[in-house]
Amino acid sequence: MKLERSSWKESAPLFLHSVRFRLTLWFVLVLGVVLAGFSVFIYSTETRFLRSDAIGDLREESERIQGLFQNSNGELSGIPPENDPVGGALMAQGDLLMLVNTDGAILQLQGQQITDPESLLAGLWAAAGGQHSPVVVQQKVHLAGQANTAAGAEYLFLTTPVMREDQVLGYLVIGTNTDLASQQHRLAVSLGIGSLGMLALALVGGFWLADHAMRPVAEIARAARDITEKDLGRRLNIPGRDELADLAATFDSMISRLQSAFERQRRFVADASHELRTPVTIINLEAGRALEGQRPAEEYRRALQIVDAEGRRMSRLVNDLMALARMDSGQTILQFEALDLRDIAREAMDRISSLAMEYGVRLEQRDLVPAPVYGDRQYLLQLVSNLLENGVKHSGSGKTVWIDTTREGEWAILRVADNGPGIPEEHLGAIFDRFYRVDPSRSQNDNDLTSPSGSGLGLSIVAWIAHAHSGKVRVESKINEGTTFQVTLPLRGG
Ligand code: ADP
Repeated sequence: MKLERSSWKESAPLFLHSVRFRLTLWFVLVLGVVLAGFSVFIYSTETRFLRSDAIGDLREESERIQGLFQNSNGELSGIPPENDPVGGALMAQGDLLMLVNTDGAILQLQGQQITDPESLLAGLWAAAGGQHSPVVVQQKVHLAGQANTAAGAEYLFLTTPVMREDQVLGYLVIGTNTDLASQQHRLAVSLGIGSLGMLALALVGGFWLADHAMRPVAEIARAARDITEKDLGRRLNIPGRDELADLAATFDSMISRLQSAFERQRRFVADASHELRTPVTIINLEAGRALEGQRPAEEYRRALQIVDAEGRRMSRLVNDLMALARMDSGQTILQFEALDLRDIAREAMDRISSLAMEYGVRLEQRDLVPAPVYGDRQYLLQLVSNLLENGVKHSGSGKTVWIDTTREGEWAILRVADNGPGIPEEHLGAIFDRFYRVDPSRSQNDNDLTSPSGSGLGLSIVAWIAHAHSGKVRVESKINEGTTFQVTLPLRGG
């Protein structure tokens, strides 16, 4: 019992804050306001109609019987008696007919008998005495023979002057029991009960509707709660074309992006540790072998060269990994300044010249057309150096690597080309991917164990730098003919 109460206490505020509850409340509130306005309108127009209908009837009756009270000389002749066929047909049951002279004295009273004709007349006289046109008065009268005479009945009176030319001969008073107050009361009660009934229905129906409409949201929330880091393959897959299906689809696409980001991250970490394991293993092996026993000096030298090369490979790999991690996390801040790609090309050539000599590769500067751009000097230098280094390392002895710059429309273009072995077509689409190497065994440079081999990160860094400068990189290659990388950046002032 205690448990139940505490769970009720917990869920009640939740329910009060729920969209379902608030939607229903708003719905009922708006409907309540509309119904109240509607009821007031109906009540007031209906009351007006009731009264004007009663007055219309009285006027008609008054006009119909006007002539009956005057003789042929136009003098007041009196009301025909009720037992007379004419007099009997004068009015409806419950109506009251009075003929009053100009002094306010009742000449004749016919139809419904009342206990206080004098006080009625006083009231009527105050409103209609001396008037030349009909006057409507609503007044309470006490009916003779009524069980509760004190209660009285609501009557509507039309007092019409009986004229001969311009002279008022007397007044004809017709009264009819309108029962307006009780009709108004009945109308108010029906409107009130009807409105309350509709509000109750709206409350139930509105809650059902809101609950029904919110169900997919609860489903989305439940499914979203179930999706964990290890379960990113799951999707909500809510069918339909409404807003909630759209929300679910947006959510699904967000999960897809998260999933691919997680996968990229996982692959990156796996590849990075794999890449680092190779040089560590080689260093361990070489050092272990060298320490096994006495060896010729030449072998020690070779072992140290290998350890040195692998150390350099590791340090380069770690640098590249750190650069990529910075780029991915958005921490890389580029310092843009006015530069010329021609100068960057020359500086990068100087940097690479000793490596080219080591590999026996010829470096050539071809047409270096001024190509002004806005860019980060250090990063653009790294971009060109990476491309030149690739050309040198992958072409091999006796080959040539050249560079040129040019302008095309609004673009500054830098090309690094070589006449090396080229890249097979099926690999061209993937060489900008991280850790991708066309032929890992060749890149490991088995022939020359002392030379640091590539990690497959150089071109992905190149692509990132070009992209960060609003540019792009393209590659063209033919087997045994060579490879050309073309970097296109927006021309300064273009
Ligand atoms: P790496 O550190 O292995 O050079 P990169 O990302 O720079 O990594 O290059 C990816 C792969 O593209 C290289 O392993 C190589 O196979 C190929 N490649 C890049 N540049 C050239 C080139 N100029 N000639 C031939 N192959 C190239």
